[in-house]
Amino acid sequence: MLTEELCRKLLETRALDVIACSLDANSSQTYQAIRQGKGAVFENVTANIERLVAMRNAMGLDRPKVQINSVLMKINQHELRELLRRWEPIVDHITVLPVHAYGGVGKLSFLEKAGISQRGKGKCPLLSYMLVAFADGTAGACCGDSNGVLRVGDFSTQSMKEIWNGPQLDYIRRVHAKRDFEKLPVCRDCDLTFSPLYWAGCYMYTMYRRMRG
Ligand code: SF4
Repeated sequence: MLTEELCRKLLETRALDVIACSLDANSSQTYQAIRQGKGAVFENVTANIERLVAMRNAMGLDRPKVQINSVLMKINQHELRELLRRWEPIVDHITVLPVHAYGGVGKLSFLEKAGISQRGKGKCPLLSYMLVAFADGTAGACCGDSNGVLRVGDFSTQSMKEIWNGPQLDYIRRVHAKRDFEKLPVCRDCDLTFSPLYWAGCYMYTMYRRMRG
């Protein structure tokens, strides 16, 4: 969906700090095994990211920073080193997270085995700075909501400002402000508001994996 025209429009807003692109693989085969939705074509996605960076640079802008987000899993860990080698010279940041259960998309067995109740009760920070664009052009509130439960608009018919200030996102924020998570099961069952210790462990694990190559 990150067409040349959309890239130009995004860049011309001069309003974005970061565009983060989800890319969990360094080959078409692995990418397709992970991302099975319509529009999820490895070659298109990688070409779009490269074009976005090239257009930003050609316009002499230093923002938005372009970031790649990768979730490390058994299925893609053999490609991590190549992914880093390929993208480090191109993008501004690469974030590698261990597999997680944002969005309540599943229970992580290692947390369950440790007897840890991973469900947090805090207000989610993502709602104050993030909008997600799905491959079909619809907008979401949360990058971990891979099932698209928290859809809040449609980029093909609405401006970013309309979506950001729109009723769907406002409703989600108000539910979080009241900690009324029974109204949003996807957030009730999410790990993001888990304790800082958990996240420290995740990041240490990621760094450890990276150091080991
Ligand atoms: S609490 Fe809700 S909005 Fe925040 S990461 Fe979890 S699912 Fe997403």
